[in-house]
Amino acid sequence: MKTIRLNNGVMMPAVGFGVYQIAPEATERAVGDALEVGYRMIDTAASYFNEEQVGNAIRSSGLKREELFVTTKLWVQDYEYDDALRAFDRSMKALGLDYLDLFLLHKPYGNYYAAWRELEKLHDEGIIRAIGVSNFDPGRLIDLIEFNEITPAVNQIETHLLCQRQIAHQWMEKYHVRHMAYAPLGQGHKNEMFENPAVAEIAKVHGKTPAQIALRFLMQNDVIVIPKSAHEERIKENFNIFDFMLSASEMEQLRSMDTATPMIGDPENPEKTEFAMTW
Ligand code: NDP
Repeated sequence: MKTIRLNNGVMMPAVGFGVYQIAPEATERAVGDALEVGYRMIDTAASYFNEEQVGNAIRSSGLKREELFVTTKLWVQDYEYDDALRAFDRSMKALGLDYLDLFLLHKPYGNYYAAWRELEKLHDEGIIRAIGVSNFDPGRLIDLIEFNEITPAVNQIETHLLCQRQIAHQWMEKYHVRHMAYAPLGQGHKNEMFENPAVAEIAKVHGKTPAQIALRFLMQNDVIVIPKSAHEERIKENFNIFDFMLSASEMEQLRSMDTATPMIGDPENPEKTEFAMTW
């Protein structure tokens, strides 16, 4: 398993399992399958309403707590000072954990400065090993860094072959913030990338699937990936990306698929903003 060093020295798996849009009743089994296959990082959020089932799967796995890396996220309606602490406690209770590996501000809306300072305190107290953000564009990220004590360890943003975030990646590198890809398979847009002739051809050459090529491409670019699947076979497939290497020319071909346009979670899109307010 490849691991990535965060800016505070904490090591994090480069591949994890995402549980967005897995129904609570299906989550325990899916996370159990993922842990069985070898995933050691799970990415959930208060707003996914399945933290409790993630916690159940962790306990049933028999794995030691220190073998696992658990990420959850604070939702925007909980950003005010006391709300943030209460929401953190709720998440910890639901997960059944006494410390968290990574806690993220889910979106850059509302009083995210207040929320960030609460996260800093929890980090200083040692209850959270690393803190980070999600859906922050480079400008907002730099602003947050400049006016606070702790630089986010990661920024989790929509990233896949069709929206590679090449410029954002450079800014994150400059500020030592790790790039974590959500929707690394493009969520509902996966067929647009899987049916691309270059992806299909490269997959054939390596005896891999288009999904594996899409994930391997990101991993080789030092991007952390958290593919989601509710199906055991695909959960296995998405983890089986450590035994091959894309060549420089294959990487270049795949790089040229970038439209540089977010399709899923652009925080600057007013409709997405309105939707987040009603969650
Ligand atoms: P993904 O890009 O992981 O795509 C998931 C879709 O791809 C599902 O429809 C899944 O179907 C399908 N799929 C999975 N594996 C394969 C495969 N090998 N071949 C073909 N199809 C496949 O989308 P997500 O939005 O789930 O993103 C991943 C994770 O990122 C989330 O689960 C969540 O943890 C995080 N996230 C964070 C956000 C944020 O704002 N911070 C926003 C969105 C996601 P099936 O399940 O039927 O296999």
